Amino acid sequence: MERAYDPYENAVTVLEQAMDVGNIDRSMFEIIKNPQRAVIVYLPVEMDDGTVRVFEGYRVQHSNIRGPFKGGVRYHQDCDLNETKALATWMTLKCAVVNIPFGGAKGGIRVDPKTLSKQEIRRLTRRYTYAIEPIIGADSDIPAPDVNTNSQTMAWILDTYSMLKGKPCPGVVTGKPVELGGSRGRESATGRGVVISSKLILAQTGETLAGARVVIQGMGNVGGNAARIFHHRGAKVIAISDVSGGIYCSDGLDMDLISEFVAGGENLLKDYNAPGVTHISNQELLLCECDILVPAAMENQINEDIALKIQCRFVIEGANGPTTAAADAILSQRGITLVPDIFANSGGVIVSYFEWVQNIQTLTWERDQVNEMLEGIMTKAFREIMEEVRVSKCSLRMAAYILAIRRLLYAEEIKGIFP
Ligand code: NAD
Repeated sequence: MERAYDPYENAVTVLEQAMDVGNIDRSMFEIIKNPQRAVIVYLPVEMDDGTVRVFEGYRVQHSNIRGPFKGGVRYHQDCDLNETKALATWMTLKCAVVNIPFGGAKGGIRVDPKTLSKQEIRRLTRRYTYAIEPIIGADSDIPAPDVNTNSQTMAWILDTYSMLKGKPCPGVVTGKPVELGGSRGRESATGRGVVISSKLILAQTGETLAGARVVIQGMGNVGGNAARIFHHRGAKVIAISDVSGGIYCSDGLDMDLISEFVAGGENLLKDYNAPGVTHISNQELLLCECDILVPAAMENQINEDIALKIQCRFVIEGANGPTTAAADAILSQRGITLVPDIFANSGGVIVSYFEWVQNIQTLTWERDQVNEMLEGIMTKAFREIMEEVRVSKCSLRMAAYILAIRRLLYAEEIKGIFP
């Protein structure tokens, strides 16, 4: 089935715009644009009732110019090769803009995991790992969680890979449970990075998080953790949603209670009730009046129509690719400042990098140390982005892309083309 909106086309359009704005020579554009490798795998899995289903899976390795391929694995019914190519491209740019020594990759399986039992998901994950085993590894390509995958999924990938290699290989995945070599602070790192991004952009106008009115689309790893941290830092989360719909409270939602309600994945927000809380649709949520809007669910949520009606001052992109290129232009015309995904949700891959460093050196670091180092890397990258905004007189997205592309092209140039 063809998508009306193609995230890979969107990614390429923005790359082209950034090269124009940054006056970057286009001779190497095809190298930056195309992934180095794209693999489709077909995964036979025995269902609980004894029947066999075959699922389609992907691993796209976009670039390893600056370090091993790195990127999450997504389980979703709309997952396809072009979406995975877009997500892999954004991973390369993300690692380059925050200047960590990784390239970019992404994987996925076209499946609605809600229709499978836990045992079926385990067998599917093991079969997927077996299929991509020849191209992953701690020094070649390191998967991590993404939409509908989590530390449990990483534990299964780690175990399958280690069984095939005949030895423990903790560095092959990040985002695994701490007991299996995961890093303290990784689970909440992407959400924490969203809050750090918000703090940094507010500081540009002398504001702080205290009292800021925040609206979040998505109550998963990114949105849920960001909401809890915003709440603890004195911001007011006035609305949040999941796939079932949203909840709203003008005085601010109690994110500790709500996190407890959805923990374990059994409950949806449509069933959450508390005094002062009303139910709203996902569309209504995006249009709520607020200071900060955080799309933290899927791509293509802020399109031209939504961009014209949005009533926030800042958009902080927790999700990958939530804003179309056309919507971006409208937000910019309307004076709404957007902090782009390749920076705003980089907290996850930054702490994944810390996890990988701990694994390959057999170290364990404390949570406070991890959080402090995360904030340090993001603050430095933000300063560099703002300096590029000043020099190129452009949006934060363009500045982040320009910085990332320049770093990639420089690496490409000094390495030269093989053979
Ligand atoms: P997740 O599966 O943990 O959570 C996704 C959330 O979005 C769930 O609450 C789900 O109900 C909700 N959702 C799904 N479709 C929706 C819709 N149409 N409208 C409203 N809500 C919807 O996934 P996640 O890991 O939080 O990832 C969310 C986004 O952040 C993705 O774009 C992902 O690529 C990106 N991201 C994730 C990480 C990470 O570390 N997990 C890192 C960087 C970027």
